[in-house]
This record gives sequence, C-alpha cells and structure tokens, in this order.
Amino acid sequence: MKKSILFLCVSALLLSACTKEQLPVANYDIIPQPKEVQLNEEKPFELDFKTLVYYESGLQREAQFLSEYVNDIMGYVLQMQEYQSQPDGIVLKVVPEDFDQAEAYEINITPKQVTIKGADAAGVFYGIQTLRKSLPISQLSTSNSQLTLNSKLSTLNSQLPCGTIKDYPKFAYRGMHLDPCRHFIPLDSVKVYIDMLAMHNMNQFHFHLSDDQGWRIEIKKYPELTEIGAYRNGTVIGHNGNLYDTIRHGGFYTQDELCDLIQYASERHINIIPEIDLPGHMQAALACYPQLGCTGGPYEVWKRWGVSEDVLCAGNEETMLFVEDVLNEVMDVFPSPYIHIGGDECPKVRWEKCPKCQAKIKELGIKKDDKFTAEDYLQSYVMNRMAKVVEARGRRVIGWDEILEGNVSETAIIMSWRGTEGGIEAARKGHDVIMAPSSHLYFDYYQSEDIASEPMCIGGYLPVERVYEFQPLPEELTPEQQKHIIGVQANIWTEYIAHFWHVQYMALPRMEALTEIQWNNPQERDFGAFVERCRHMTQLYELYHYTYADHIFNPQVWADTVEANLATRKPITLRQQPAEKYTYEGASLLNDGNLGRGAYNSGRWLGFCGYPLDAIIDLEQPAEMQHVRFHALVNKGAWIYNPSQVKVLVSDDGETFREVAQKDIPISTWEDRDGIFAYEVDFEPVTAKFVEVVISGYDLPEDHSGFGNPAWIFVDEIEVR
Ligand SMILES: [Zn+2]
Repeated sequence: MKKSILFLCVSALLLSACTKEQLPVANYDIIPQPKEVQLNEEKPFELDFKTLVYYESGLQREAQFLSEYVNDIMGYVLQMQEYQSQPDGIVLKVVPEDFDQAEAYEINITPKQVTIKGADAAGVFYGIQTLRKSLPISQLSTSNSQLTLNSKLSTLNSQLPCGTIKDYPKFAYRGMHLDPCRHFIPLDSVKVYIDMLAMHNMNQFHFHLSDDQGWRIEIKKYPELTEIGAYRNGTVIGHNGNLYDTIRHGGFYTQDELCDLIQYASERHINIIPEIDLPGHMQAALACYPQLGCTGGPYEVWKRWGVSEDVLCAGNEETMLFVEDVLNEVMDVFPSPYIHIGGDECPKVRWEKCPKCQAKIKELGIKKDDKFTAEDYLQSYVMNRMAKVVEARGRRVIGWDEILEGNVSETAIIMSWRGTEGGIEAARKGHDVIMAPSSHLYFDYYQSEDIASEPMCIGGYLPVERVYEFQPLPEELTPEQQKHIIGVQANIWTEYIAHFWHVQYMALPRMEALTEIQWNNPQERDFGAFVERCRHMTQLYELYHYTYADHIFNPQVWADTVEANLATRKPITLRQQPAEKYTYEGASLLNDGNLGRGAYNSGRWLGFCGYPLDAIIDLEQPAEMQHVRFHALVNKGAWIYNPSQVKVLVSDDGETFREVAQKDIPISTWEDRDGIFAYEVDFEPVTAKFVEVVISGYDLPEDHSGFGNPAWIFVDEIEVR
C-alpha cells in the first residue's frame, strides 16, 4: 500500500513536469510479430496509473498478469474489476465466435479503450503478452536498481497508438525442453524458465525428469529413486576426460513441488510434459534397483556424459511392472495430455547377451529382418507396452525418433531430433510429429564461432540466424502429410550447463527465433527486421535480469585471413577426400586465404579420420620455400585430436616427390586445453613447382572413452613460404 501512495505522489509531480509530446510511445514491432497491425491517426490511448482493467468472469488471473506486467515496466499496479458495459480503460473478454482457431486474439485500441479479445483465455493471455512487449521501457530502468525509481518516473504514462492488432499461432504445439538431470535446476529457476516461455507465447514445457546422471521426480512407491538416484558422487571434468571432481551433485522435485509448478505453468497457459526416458538413459534408476538391469549391477548414478550401455532389462517382468508403476504415478501428478517416454539412444549390447532378454525375444516370437534386429523389435515391445499404459488413461505418448526403429504404435507422437528425416518418415506413416532437429533447435550448441570467448558447451555451432531459417514443414511432404507436423520445439541439454544463468544465455535470444518459427509463417520472415525487434526484447530481459547472448547485435569481425603466401588460392588436390560430412567446398578450403574458425562443423574446417590429409599444391611456377604452417582444431571430447605428424615433400613435375621435412607432434592430454592451434615446420630452402603436405592423425589413447578408434583431425589453411 505504501508503494502505491508513493507512486501517486511522484506521478502527480511528473504530470506537472512533463508535456504530453514527451510521453513514450508503445511499439507493436515485437516478437513474435503479430500477423496484422493496422494503425490509425486517432489520438493515442494514454496508459497511466489511473487506467482500470475490466475483465470478464473467468479472466481474473489474466487481468492480474496484465497489472503485474505494467507494474514491472511502469512502476504502478493497475486496479482491476469485473467487466461492466462499455467502460473506459482496458477490457479483457473471450468471444469464441469471432475467431477461426484457438489461442487467437485481437486488440482494438481507441482513444478511450483498449479491448483485448480472445478466442479463449489463452488468446487473451497472448494479447496481454503483446501489449506487455509493446510498452516502452526506459534504458535506465534496466541498468541499475538504484535508478529504477527515477527511470520508472520517466515512463509513468505512455501512449498506445490507436488501431487494430489481429494475431493467431501457426502451430498448436509450441514447446521448449529443459534437462534438469545432467545438472539439477532448482524449482524457482524452473519457474523463471516458465516465465520466459510465457513471454514467448509458448504453451508446452517438456520436462526431462530422468536420466543416467540423476533421477529428479519423487516416486512414492520407489523412494530410493530420489534417496539414491537423485545424487551422483562426482562429475567428469571437461569433455568426458578421465578426470572427475568429487563433489556430490543432485536434487529432486517432490510431488507437492511439481503440483505447485504445474499450477504455476497452467496459469500461464503452459502444459508441462513429463519425460521418463526409457528403456535407455536409466542408469540412475538401476543404481537404486540393480535387479532391473540385465547384469544385476552394481551400478552407480553415472558421473560421465554420453550414452550408458546399462539399460532396463526388457526380459524381466519385474522391470516392466516397475516402469508401469512409475508412469502411473507420473500421470497421477501431471495432468498433461502428452506423456514423453523417451526411447532414444538405447544400446542393445546388454540385451544381446542377457538370457532373460533373449528368452523374451523367443517368447514373443520376435524375428530380425533386413531392416531391424530382434533387439530393435524388443525395444518396440517395451515402448508399445508402455504406450498402452499411457493410453489407458486417455493420454498420448511422445517418443524420440528412434522409436520408429521397429514397429511403433500408430498413435505415438514422434519428436524428430536427429534432423528432420525421422519427422518426415513419421508424417508419411501417419504419425503426428514435433520437429526438434539438433541441426537447428539444439540450444546447447555454441552460438558463436569464437568458442574461446564462450562458456564451454557440448560443441556444434548454431547461431540465431540458423534457428531463424528453419522450415518446420518439409517440402518433401504433401499438404495432407504436413498437417501431421503439429509443432516445433527447441531442447536444452545441460551436460555442460551447470547454472541457470547459463541456461538463459543459451536460450536467449535463440528463443526469439524459435517463437517466430512456431507462431508465424516462413514467408513472413525478414532477419534484419527481426534483429531490430530483438533489441526491444533485450530491454525486457534486462528488466527481468535475464542473461542473454548479444552476438546478433555485435557481429564479430574476425581477423581471419592469412597473408597471401605461395599456396594461396593455387590449384590444390587431395589424394583422399575428407569425410563426407566435413567436405564443404573441398580441397580449395585449405588455401582460400581464410583461417579455420569456430567449431569443427562450422564449415571452415576439413575433417579426416583414419587416414592422413594428403594435399598437393601446384605453385604454378618454381618458387623457393622453407616454411609450412597450418591450423588444426582440438576437441578431445568430440574425438578430435591434434595431428601426430606433418611431412613436407616437393616435386618439379607433380609426379615424383622428395621429402624435405618431417615433424612429430606430441599428443594433447586431458591436462592440455582444447582449442585452435597453429603448427609449423621449417626446413632448408628448396625450390620447386609442387609441394605436398601430409598431415597424419593419432589413434584415440587409452584414457579416452573411444580408445582403439582413430581420432579425427580438423585442419585448415595451409600456408607455404
Ligand atoms: Zn535383459
């Protein structure tokens, strides 16, 4: 109460000090961009502390949100009351018959009234989000809490230009995922994440609640799942090296806390989809109940990243009943119409050797065929059995696209993560599909090429631009098949994300691009305009103290070219081509004058595995040389090591070569940092027309999880002087 009296006083001061021409003006260029904005020349609606919010019965919570948002931005709470006839102020109402689809809304702004009309309460909520995002935010209000009061003074009143905004979503399913298993995320932070989803008009929150590295949901029938399974006794350091910390890590959500979270999300028109990932990614559960695994253990809550080979025993009836119990209890807690049952990355090595699993294959009469193994079909048996448990309670299952490998239940919704191919195949077979391809929508990947300046993450390169260009409706599908693409989602896995600020940094502003994809049609996209609209959104981020990445506003200028040298842009051939995935424009990348930058898949490196890079450069005329230099990338967790050796050979005719230099390079160890390194070799001056550079790689060393396999080398820009 004190606060509102204070604001009444200061606003009176402001009114006397401020002329109307100076009032800040709302800007409807927000994200996602509304479908239709038609403004007119009428005198703008003036929003101030006296503005009243009138709401129809059933929209009280929406009215509260509006009042809270205005308070966050302007510094005063709007008074609210149930709807009366034709009042002046802001009016919230639901008129389903005025709309063609759910979640649609329309805002009409006149000099005296702002009406937010929705097809349903969710539509009204999105209209409120649009109004909230349109309000002018002072630069000062966001930068320093000491200045907050002053800055809010400057925005006490604002003008809303008159006109009409009409808007509705493209996709009914608009989601984001979060993984609190690899690193636990406290409940309060999850609530902030839900606030972020609400701000971006999303309606599905995919909550990944179980994995090898930690079990996160209280299950009353199996208390050990959280007593033991929620904690691990250390975590691998860096990209899956052989060093571990000894810090106990973990945490879990009680069912009461989850009910509170579900209510919190529901008020924001967000459904929470719980995921119990099975039959793989179950090592934390096995650590509690080792009899549920094929070998009987012992198991520990996993301290490494990656995919554990220890999975649920599909041949053990006790295991199946355990999973059914867990799913039933999860459904007791979560009212979600969708239940995610995982199905990804389930190695079959244990099942191949397990007498129980093999007996089950016999009992079920499962036969391998030319497409899938018997064990693949055994996984289908598990997934379909659990789908029935879910469907018996009127819910639908979602699974990762691996569940297509076998004979998946027709009603399962496929979440296409390994590219869009799984989604395309599934849509053709008549499954509903959610597109979440790692190529465009894995927000745990780097968003800058300058990885040395970024907080460490899993790898990859996924800038905002790439998210923004994603087309969720593949052209390969007919319009009828395209109707099976029910939505789009981005995922955040947290192996390398230990703190919530980092989750936010990875999400923002890529979430802006995601919401444009989810809400709008592809033909309505314009990246330049999008970046400008993002600028306004970052003011909101600062107001709410959200951490965000600012790469799109500060395009980096790379000092990324090399000085012209004998090799630059000369004809170059490779005795053996790079790996197909990492060929890009081919050999010419190696001497185009541009240095390799960013992650291994940035398109700026050629990748080789199991054989050397062997390049022949035609200098076009005899030249004297004594120095060869190149760069290589080291990312040991991704199986990329430094080269083992470089050899330089020369030739006058391009046929017969003689060696002029050879240099061995010691292998990078886990104590050495990853990154981009230059390698040089000097030799006695020699004159020749052709130069051959042979760069060999190591095999992965004993202390690497991939021991025995060849390491990758990623090389760019060979210089000859
Ligand atoms: Zn088994």
